[in-house]
Amino acid sequence: MDAQRKFNLPSLMKPLFAPLFLSLAMISTVFAAWPINDECPVDQKAARPIYRVKTDEGLVAFCCTDCMQKYSKSPASYPVKKKAVAK
Ligand SMILES: [Zn+2]
Repeated sequence: MDAQRKFNLPSLMKPLFAPLFLSLAMISTVFAAWPINDECPVDQKAARPIYRVKTDEGLVAFCCTDCMQKYSKSPASYPVKKKAVAK
């Protein structure tokens, strides 16, 4: 009995890997909808795609909600540095 339980352990581990693959798939989805910039236009920190605002130019990302709100109040004050688009 005990020996069989040990043998079955690796197959019990498999379900743990499924969420990992799922999150990898979600990451690639996020990259597909990645904004036009990868630097926060307000303080030049690394922008995160979860903080984004839709503009005429496309999605603009920010490092935090504070920056997002600052930009929303006066978009002209914070020129967006577009990232180079790989072709
Ligand atoms: Zn910022």
